[in-house]
Amino acid sequence: MENNILQIIYLIGSVTFILGLKFLGNPATARKGNLMAAFGMIISIFGTIFLYTTEAGAHLHNLGFIFGALLVGTVVGWLIAKKVQMTAMPEMVSLFNGMGGACAMLISVIEFKHLETDMSLVEPSHLLIILLGLIIGSVSFAGSIIAWGKLSGNVKDKSLGMQQVINIGLLLVILVLTTIMIMGNGAYTIELFYAVFTLSLLYGILFVLPIGGADMPVVISLLNSFTGVAAACGGFLYDNKVMLVGGILVGSAGTLLTIVMCKAMNRSLLNVLIGNFGGNANAADAVPSNFEGSIKEVTASDAAILMKYAKKVIIVPGYGLAVAQAQHIVHDLELLLEAEGIDVKYAIHPVAGRMPGHMNVLLAESNVSYDKLIEMEEVNPEFATTDVVLVVGANDVVNPAAKTDPTSPIYGMPILDVENAANVIVNKRSMKAGYAGIENELFYKPKTSMLFGDAKKALTQLVSEIKALG
Ligand code: NDP
Repeated sequence: MENNILQIIYLIGSVTFILGLKFLGNPATARKGNLMAAFGMIISIFGTIFLYTTEAGAHLHNLGFIFGALLVGTVVGWLIAKKVQMTAMPEMVSLFNGMGGACAMLISVIEFKHLETDMSLVEPSHLLIILLGLIIGSVSFAGSIIAWGKLSGNVKDKSLGMQQVINIGLLLVILVLTTIMIMGNGAYTIELFYAVFTLSLLYGILFVLPIGGADMPVVISLLNSFTGVAAACGGFLYDNKVMLVGGILVGSAGTLLTIVMCKAMNRSLLNVLIGNFGGNANAADAVPSNFEGSIKEVTASDAAILMKYAKKVIIVPGYGLAVAQAQHIVHDLELLLEAEGIDVKYAIHPVAGRMPGHMNVLLAESNVSYDKLIEMEEVNPEFATTDVVLVVGANDVVNPAAKTDPTSPIYGMPILDVENAANVIVNKRSMKAGYAGIENELFYKPKTSMLFGDAKKALTQLVSEIKALG
């Protein structure tokens, strides 16, 4: 009876995950989707704690430890999520993803310890699932921790010589050791298990460490999908349907996102897996330019005149918009221009900001209408008929080096073709580089003017100058 109720709870939990994911696809319903999936997770956890029974009819024991751990995890997670600055969200998401990988990894370690002492009696398929959870969970955990360090600026990109050979070699050794364990009828299993564990952690570190430039988004979404697959292995191990469904949903959503990101960055997934790409520059290392042309500054009042008499304006938001928390003032600017009869849109690059969908989330926060956010492929042909492009805190996503400089770490990445517009106004605080650490020739082009200053302050001034024009 208890088991039947539990299966119904798992079914409800699985349905809430699926609906939650669907609602998360639209900023207007995302909050509801998140709450719905969280509800499904809570009933699944408490259902398991109180209703799960073994074949012998025993309930879970160690309730003190379970509730202690739940309490510590909830309080720590709650506090971190409450206190986090909007700009630190991507790091936090990476860290939380790493915790998911760590859980799957630890489940495999514990379940391996539970196997019979005589390894020859263990079902190879059971061992395979434990090893898959261990490998994928460890790679996800170690990789996410390095990604967390990189996004927070504490870990620099580092490429060892022969990085690809080392990465492929490591993967092959892990594969061979896993095969030996599965086929080996119990010989040397414990030693090999810990060797696979250590090498997987090492692979996770080495695979993310050299990735830089503009390639982090692909890796972040790939690590998300790894965590999902590792959790699904746990679902198989425990024959737990809700864990399986949850893991598969995260795994497949992460994989789809990885494919979208690969397409957006023009990279192949194989290259990501063997660490073939990336840049090793950092913002501070940007080389002085030898571009033709010079920097032209524009004042807020001149920019206001240019915009007020435009027919069509496209705003390009980037990471700096999030740093400055300028999403509300940019929306005010949009409304003001629209009241003047100007056609205003936002051009959204798939990797703008520091996490997938960063600009969509940010602009949704200030109630920018979703149909004003135009994806890169759709908006690129529109720049040619645009009077003014206002770039707010974006840099790499409008850098022509992606098309013109084969040595650039962002070479091959599709960019927003803002150069095709009649006028480009770029707002940022200085001439410093963006995430990929490279100079941007756009700033030196004759059509470009620089509106220097913090985005919130500069846009506030722009809004009051436009209002003053009457
Ligand atoms: P960039 O990082 O290229 O550039 C952001 C620019 O914003 C900087 O050049 C900075 O210049 C400016 N800026 C910072 N603070 C402010 C402020 N307060 N006011 C005004 N400007 C400010 O951002 P993009 O969005 O163009 O590109 C995203 C980059 O991040 C890509 O390289 C992408 O690959 C990478 N990335 C993306 C992830 C994702 O999932 N979206 C994940 C990981 C990395 P200054 O200091 O002069 O003000």
